[in-house]
Amino acid sequence: MQFQGQILKMTSYNDQPIQYYLNLSGDLIHMNELLGREISIKHTGYQCVNCALDKTIYRMGFCKSCFFESPYASDTIIRPELSTAHLGIGERDLDVEKQIQLQPHTVYLAYTGDVKVGVTRNSQIPTRWIDQGATFALPIARTENRYEAGMIEVALKEHLADKTNWRKMLQDDFEDEVDLADFQKKIKEYFPEDFQKFYSEGENMWKFDYPFSKPEKVTSFTLDKNPEFTGKLVGIKGQYLAFDGGNFMNVRGHEGYVIEMKILN
Ligand SMILES: [Zn+2]
Repeated sequence: MQFQGQILKMTSYNDQPIQYYLNLSGDLIHMNELLGREISIKHTGYQCVNCALDKTIYRMGFCKSCFFESPYASDTIIRPELSTAHLGIGERDLDVEKQIQLQPHTVYLAYTGDVKVGVTRNSQIPTRWIDQGATFALPIARTENRYEAGMIEVALKEHLADKTNWRKMLQDDFEDEVDLADFQKKIKEYFPEDFQKFYSEGENMWKFDYPFSKPEKVTSFTLDKNPEFTGKLVGIKGQYLAFDGGNFMNVRGHEGYVIEMKILN
C-alpha cells in the first residue's frame, strides 16, 4: 500500500482509545489500523498550507512569506492576549481576525505531565487537548472572545506552565489521577479582577485514552534530518507517531511537507 501527499495535522476522534487519521492531501488514513505495521516515510517536497507553493516550510505549515503575512499565522494565534478585533482594530486582516477572535473561548487546565493552562476556541474542544496529548483537561473559564481568554491565561501562567513539555508527555510516567478541580480552586485568586466573572467551576473533567504505552526511551526525528525513515508503528499520542526503539515523529511539526508513505508489512 502506498500513499502520497501533503501532511496536515492528524484528525482525531475521541473514543477509547482515541482514533487517529493521518491527513495526506485530504486522504484520511486510519492510523490505529497500522499499529504493529512497518511503515516507510519519504520526504519529497513541500506544499505551503497557505499559498500551496513548493517552498521550504518555515513554521506551522507556512512558507516564510506566508508566515509573516497570513492572518492565520498572526501573533494573536500564539498570544491570544494581543487580540484587538474586539476593538475593531486589525493586525493583518480584520475580517479574518474577527472570525477567529470574536467567538466563545475556553480557558482550561490540562495535564500533560505537568499541569498547564491554555486557551482554545470552543469549536476546538476536545481536539485541542488531544493534539497536546493531555491525559486530563478541565475548563475553568468561559469567555465571549479570544482577548478575554488570553488575559486570564497571561495572569495564570505566572503560576503555571503554558507549554507542553513533549518529552515528559511522551515518557508517560506520571500520576494516574490528578485533581485539576482542586488546582482550579487554588489558582482562582490569580484571576484578574475584571475577568473573575468568566470563572466557571464544577465543569466536567475530560479524560483521554491514547493508543499508546510507555516507551523505553524518547527520541524524536524530523524529515529535515532524516528524509527517509522506516520503522514499526507502536503507538500514537498527541500529534506524535511512536515507532519501535523510542523514535517519535511530530506530525503537526511536519505540516506542509509532502511525503510518500508505504506500508511494508
Ligand atoms: Zn506560502
